[in-house]
Amino acid sequence: MSTPGNTAEKTAVAAPARAGDAWSGASFTLHGAGVSAGIAIGRAHLVSAAQFEVAHYEIEPERIDAELRRFDAALAQVRGELVGLRASLHSGTPAEMSAFLDVHLMILDDAHLSQASREMIAAQRCNAEWALVQQMLTLTAQFDEIEDAYLRERKADVVHVVEKILKAMPGNESRPLSVQSEDSVVIARDLSPADMIAFKHHRFAGFATDMGGVTSHSAIVARSLNIPAIVGLHNARALLREGETVIVDGREGVLIVNPGPRVLEEYRERRARIERSRARLRSLRGTPAATREGVAVELHANIELPEDVALVRESGASGIGLFRSEFLFLNRESLPEEDEQFEAYRHVVRAMAGLPVTIRTLDLGADKTANGRGPAAPNPALGLRAIRLCLAEPRMFQTQLRAILRASHYGPIRLLVPMLAHAHEIAQTLDAIRQAKASLDAQAVPYDRALRIGGMVEIPGAALALGEFLKHLEFLSIGTNDLVQYTLAIDRTDDSVAHLYDPLHPAVLYLVAQTLKAGKRAGIPVAVCGEMAGELAYTRLLLGLGLREFSMHPAQLPAVKRLVLSTTLAEVESLAARLMRTRDAARRRALIEALRA
Ligand code: PEP
Ligand code: MG
Repeated sequence: MSTPGNTAEKTAVAAPARAGDAWSGASFTLHGAGVSAGIAIGRAHLVSAAQFEVAHYEIEPERIDAELRRFDAALAQVRGELVGLRASLHSGTPAEMSAFLDVHLMILDDAHLSQASREMIAAQRCNAEWALVQQMLTLTAQFDEIEDAYLRERKADVVHVVEKILKAMPGNESRPLSVQSEDSVVIARDLSPADMIAFKHHRFAGFATDMGGVTSHSAIVARSLNIPAIVGLHNARALLREGETVIVDGREGVLIVNPGPRVLEEYRERRARIERSRARLRSLRGTPAATREGVAVELHANIELPEDVALVRESGASGIGLFRSEFLFLNRESLPEEDEQFEAYRHVVRAMAGLPVTIRTLDLGADKTANGRGPAAPNPALGLRAIRLCLAEPRMFQTQLRAILRASHYGPIRLLVPMLAHAHEIAQTLDAIRQAKASLDAQAVPYDRALRIGGMVEIPGAALALGEFLKHLEFLSIGTNDLVQYTLAIDRTDDSVAHLYDPLHPAVLYLVAQTLKAGKRAGIPVAVCGEMAGELAYTRLLLGLGLREFSMHPAQLPAVKRLVLSTTLAEVESLAARLMRTRDAARRRALIEALRA
């Protein structure tokens, strides 16, 4: 998605650390993957994950000793508490309890945590909370790589001890995830989808993380914030200082730190050009999407939260093709009740005023976990995720199904089921929907009896054996984000394999093309709702393969529409047919190039 150019005066891509103040004010460039186009110019604001949001500030040289004493005082207080607790255990207390306290005492005194934090306070002149949380993140990342499950679980103990120290730190108040002002550019190591949702309630200029792939859910939410964003920068958080001037080029995936006046001027001009072109695109809002021959194409929008619907209306989308309902379940202690879900779904349906709304049932698991839903599985993307989790938790599923059905009384809803692969999963899901309908019937609660039920095709096995899907479901939607992940065995959240994440891989295109063809033959509409649908580079190719329903982030929609309007279907169909036939790599590249925007 991004092939960065080098525009800054000085480049320092792989520097592991920035020694003291020697670099203060130096200009340098970092390269990652652009996930949300546009240019932001602002001040760096360094944050940690929401749970450990702590202030980051510089300490005057003469205050360093006092800061170290503040840190030591917190350690001493926690040590006193733990020792006191251990002494108070009576003889009948299980042995694990005292072993548990011993482990916490060991962690507290471990040099990797305490001594390393002290060194960081002195070397970087940063506050103690910040140093401690950075050391914790380094340690917990190492724990993630440990094979031994018992040792891996000790990560939670490190986190508990750090929480205790933070609470004991004199003068520390825990703050909600915050951004300082509208010109702040958030710089983070990694943020979960839940953290990103918390950001939806703030305004800021741009966003950059060290971790993450372009189709990770964090990146998808970053895109939905509609601000320039970059993921996979590796060293940004370690190299940047609070308040430094940064430029985020969300298209090229370039972060420029402390730009000189010439570079700043150049990017201000580029930003203005992008704004002008967006304003021109907005004028297409009321134009129906159709190819040059007049073949209608549905351009739908993806949303995560009910409030996103305002952006959908502005974009001129002809419906919602994917409402990722699981985002209603993040960042909270308990699961939302039926009434709360019903209100959220009804709000969206009413706001769409008669246009179709596709609500996807819960896709929790993998990188999206609701609070209190148990520890991560050994291999969460292959684990109890999405429909598998719903079928394992029938009460939770019934609550959601009833809420969706009730909302369908207020406007056209389509119900979309994620991660289906097996015939028995389809059968069980349809049974669950019948059961929810029966319970509403018993209470004489109205719902749309013609509500259509569809399935996502995002597991290669599903795409290769669509028979049951076509027999029992009324529409399909290809989730290319997961389809690529599972076809190519690329963890979509792992930036170290992001370069292998390729929607144009022949196997992926084969699965997409086959699904479109099979749907057409059976008279079952097929949409694409993965990120591929909003990428201009793939629009003509997908049209050529037969796609007539795209669902994407609303900000992408006007540009995709312009491209659809300028496409001659006969031309792209012929190019796509040749692409699917050829085995020659050079011809393949040439055809893909010819199909690009
Ligand atoms: C997909 O997998 O392409 C998709 C649309 O769903 P999600 O990104 O939420 O997994
Ligand atoms: Mg998916």
